[in-house]
Amino acid sequence: MTAVLSDPIFTNEEAARVHFEELRWPNGRYCPHCGEAEKTSPIGGKEVGRFYCLSCKKKFSATVGTVYERSHIPLHKWLAATHLMCASKKGISAHQLHRMLGITYKSAWFMCHRIREAMTDSNPTPMGGNGQIVEVDETFLGQPDQVYENNGGWKGKRGYHTKIKVMGLVERNGRSRLIKVNDLHVGTIAKVLAENVDPNSRLQTDQAKHYKNHGKKFAKHETVNHSKKEYARGDVTTNSIEGYFGLFKRGMVGVYQHCGEQHLQRYLNEFDFRYGNRSALGFDDAARAAEAIKGVAGKRLTYRQANG
Ligand SMILES: [Zn+2]
Repeated sequence: MTAVLSDPIFTNEEAARVHFEELRWPNGRYCPHCGEAEKTSPIGGKEVGRFYCLSCKKKFSATVGTVYERSHIPLHKWLAATHLMCASKKGISAHQLHRMLGITYKSAWFMCHRIREAMTDSNPTPMGGNGQIVEVDETFLGQPDQVYENNGGWKGKRGYHTKIKVMGLVERNGRSRLIKVNDLHVGTIAKVLAENVDPNSRLQTDQAKHYKNHGKKFAKHETVNHSKKEYARGDVTTNSIEGYFGLFKRGMVGVYQHCGEQHLQRYLNEFDFRYGNRSALGFDDAARAAEAIKGVAGKRLTYRQANG
């Protein structure tokens, strides 16, 4: 980690700016206000990294219109935070970023949310497709409600009803999508599946009843019977989604235990981003960070919005 973080883009503001401009403007600089690509020029003097647009007469820098815009945090610290969030398998807490980058906890917290915004797929396409497998399952977060039992004292209520519910979808050898849902009623499940999975896919789940009906809308609905200790039958399995849930839950317990329910979907998007850009799909830490940095455009998030 130390060796990577010694890269000048994480320590030197000028190197950070050049790196960011290359990712932000791969086909050359353009004005974010009016789109002018030809007639722009550096302002010069002390305004390093600032440009003037001869078409709309406005000034701009590469961070205009991105989640990094109008921040008092230097760009090299933004790049370091983005890199650390992308490189840490289970994520990294705002407390740790606060200590590592020498910024306030409040700044670190806000940066994390803005970076999650950059990681969020703003135009998600249906998962799966012809001949492709999509595994679906659900998982639960949080403590159950407590009930008092005369001979046992306070105990966690059985069942998941009071816990936070998350549906997980994984394309075999592809992307993932974690979605916070209010309940696991048939209608809710049907809506999530209809909105997120291509009907030409092979749907693979456990034998939970709530998948049965809507499962008929897919090219195939195949199940494994966990109650009979069946975990795979040929290429039918839910092992990918269960493995992914494992990673996600270790991250939520280890790093994000204080995540508020109103922020949960952003954390889910963060895990999905890392999963969809994982090393098995050819992304190393730097390539994954570059993908996140490309996502910063057009996603400004104000402190008020981040606070829900
Ligand atoms: Zn312009």
